Amino acid sequence: MTLEQSPAPGDVADVYDGIGRIYGSTWGPNFHYGYWDDDADQSSIEVATDRLTDMMIAGLAATPGQRVLDIGCGVGHPALRLARTTGAHVLGISVSHVQVAEANARADAAGLAGQATFQFTDAMNMPFPAGSFDAAWAFESMWHMPDRGRVLAEAARVLRPGGRLAVADVIERGPVSEEGRKVLDHICENYAVKSLGTIEEYRNALAANGFVDVEIRDITDNCARTTALMADTVETRRADLVALVGEEQTASLLDFMRRAAAAAESGYLILTATRA
Ligand code: SAH
Repeated sequence: MTLEQSPAPGDVADVYDGIGRIYGSTWGPNFHYGYWDDDADQSSIEVATDRLTDMMIAGLAATPGQRVLDIGCGVGHPALRLARTTGAHVLGISVSHVQVAEANARADAAGLAGQATFQFTDAMNMPFPAGSFDAAWAFESMWHMPDRGRVLAEAARVLRPGGRLAVADVIERGPVSEEGRKVLDHICENYAVKSLGTIEEYRNALAANGFVDVEIRDITDNCARTTALMADTVETRRADLVALVGEEQTASLLDFMRRAAAAAESGYLILTATRA
């Protein structure tokens, strides 16, 4: 008997194949936050989101021919950037069939099909042999996992000793005010998220699963512009969102994107670690 997962893979796919397609149509192919150096940084969404990818790439330090696992690959844009800039081979996994098909098509179009492949696989149960990857990242996918500790345990199993791990994730930062709780609850209820992680939870789970050289950075301030900007861009596709989820839900989604931008409790981290 398999235990029931929450969120189920299908719940996650529904978000990305539903409202996620509309968000992505204005945000671009990076399904993650942007990184801005400071308030004066006028970088575009494309530049700021690629910059976060480059920070993740630097964290893995992958070399040509190495095998990298992309846990939660979206439409593959970050993985293709990793493959192109490092020469490493990437296997991306997602629980959206739509994303897997698009990611493989993008790899083909980029002439990287031999170096980057994507498949439907649940990160909670990875069918990969122990020690089969040199590096792995979970790039803004961990917030969807029913059990982050289990995914980190799986990552530790499939990484070889000395293998590198990088994670970027939306997190909760305490103390949580009444408004902050509303924002965090909204995120959980609308984006297939059971609960948001914390820096402390990550520190403990990484240690418990044999990761060393752990470096965790709270980059909330650098990423904070993301949700307000996303509200601005999604606003341009408002009619499509209304057609999909109705007027009331559309108003709520846009309202909470702006409120999340102002809520210090809605945080963001990037971390690197080495499997002992
Ligand atoms: N890393 C990509 C996509 C981030 S969106 C990028 O930065 O652009 C989150 C991704 O995590 C989606 O592709 C979603 O399908 C995937 N995901 C969520 N839960 C998952 C699970 N249990 N197993 C595998 N992938 C999962």
